[in-house]
Amino acid sequence: MTTKNIHGKVIELLRGDIANQPDMDCVVNAANAQLRTGGGVAGAIHRAAGPELEEECRPLAPIRPGEAVITAAYNLPNRYVIHCLGPVYGSDKPEADLLAACYRNALRLAEENNIESITFPAISTGAFGYPVEEAARVALRTILGELPGLSTVKKIRFVFFHPSDLKTHEQVLEKLGKE
Ligand code: ADP
Repeated sequence: MTTKNIHGKVIELLRGDIANQPDMDCVVNAANAQLRTGGGVAGAIHRAAGPELEEECRPLAPIRPGEAVITAAYNLPNRYVIHCLGPVYGSDKPEADLLAACYRNALRLAEENNIESITFPAISTGAFGYPVEEAARVALRTILGELPGLSTVKKIRFVFFHPSDLKTHEQVLEKLGKE
């Protein structure tokens, strides 16, 4: 696990389950365009939230790569879920811009809703095939770039299923800190 204080904000990287983040205001869903349940992160979030989440999502769908929408969290231990559609690697282009837009749009919605703490998964690195190290560079560079402009958001956490993904993100964050 890594904790860093940057621009007065806390950045945390740790292993964990996106559906079990009880100390955070908001969790981010690596959603599909239809905002339905599925595998990976979307499955975990919808299973834990219950069927009302899909009901609230239905009129908001479809969303496009890079877009984000916000809903209540129902049976999840959070106030909100922000649903982001990441790019499918090799097909939604330019991937890096679309992935960066996910993180920027999620943080914009967080600020608009007075959210103080938000947990992200590694968007697009599962079923959507984005190589983890490349995705980590885009995600962490975007977050670091947004930090000075944030006012309500005080804590940003990334959770990873695989220990190797945590390690990769820790190494990338370390490198970005030296740039
Ligand atoms: P995408 O379709 O955007 O690629 P996935 O949900 O398939 O999204 O995977 C995104 C990342 O989240 C992958 O690295 C995957 O290992 C990880 N992951 C899957 N389930 C969970 C979970 N419950 N909590 C945190 N991370 C998860």
